[in-house]
Amino acid sequence: MSLHLSGRRARFAAAIALAALSLTACGGSSGSNGSSGSGTTATNESGGTLVKDGTLTTCTHLPYAPFQFEEGGKTVGFDVDLIDLVAKELGVTQAIVDTPFEGIKSGQDLNTGKCDIAAAGMTITDERKQVIDFSKPYFDATQAMLVKKGAGYTSLADLAGKTVGVQSGTTGKDYVDANKPGGVKVVEFEDLATEQQGLATGQVDAAVNDLPVWLDYIKKNPGKFEVAAEFDTGEQYGFGIKKGGNPELLATVNQVLDKAKSDGTYDTLYQKWFGQKPSS
Ligand code: GLN
Repeated sequence: MSLHLSGRRARFAAAIALAALSLTACGGSSGSNGSSGSGTTATNESGGTLVKDGTLTTCTHLPYAPFQFEEGGKTVGFDVDLIDLVAKELGVTQAIVDTPFEGIKSGQDLNTGKCDIAAAGMTITDERKQVIDFSKPYFDATQAMLVKKGAGYTSLADLAGKTVGVQSGTTGKDYVDANKPGGVKVVEFEDLATEQQGLATGQVDAAVNDLPVWLDYIKKNPGKFEVAAEFDTGEQYGFGIKKGGNPELLATVNQVLDKAKSDGTYDTLYQKWFGQKPSS
């Protein structure tokens, strides 16, 4: 384990180091030339190559109101409106593909070209960042536990011997798995609608999911449910793009978000879907 190198080895090592240095220098300069030139050579200047010409194809998992849900035969919601702004900027139209959340959060749908972008009320996590390029955060959320009004539970600890519903593949499921006390039975649902149904029909005693979807559900079903506990997980949503796959689109999404925030469009859409202005 000597660090001493013989003359020949030292010369060899020095040559390698020099080669590496010159490669780095080369890479640096060609990289900057490349990026200044790429704007003119890209198929679509700000959208990169789209999986379907003239269309911004979005993967989502329905329903997740008020971010994306069906209404009057159309998919609408906060995420839908934000991605429509991106599509408009690109001069294309948005087409939405409904697909299980597992394939969205694993990056698989983006990798296989099922869609250009994922917009699914999706929390940015370190694990997901390994497999997806995320836009800037566009929404703050926490987890929350919903119960039938008057059920009397105020925490996960109150659910010993009871059942709690979670949604497959979500940060809510992760939270419950990590924080539930012994004796709580976890029931997994494939989507938000079946989780809501599970609570409404008494299949589960409580249900954990992101706070904004519960607030929307309470608004649409007045007097029936209440938020029993909030878990301050400090989550932020991001739009997902294929890892390393479309830096042009990623940049456009971020520009559109910046502009929407500075010109008031973001606040207008927030008001439209959440009934209030964003808090900060
Ligand atoms: N924000 C949660 C997550 O990213 C739930 C998303 C969803 O169910 N659409 O895991």
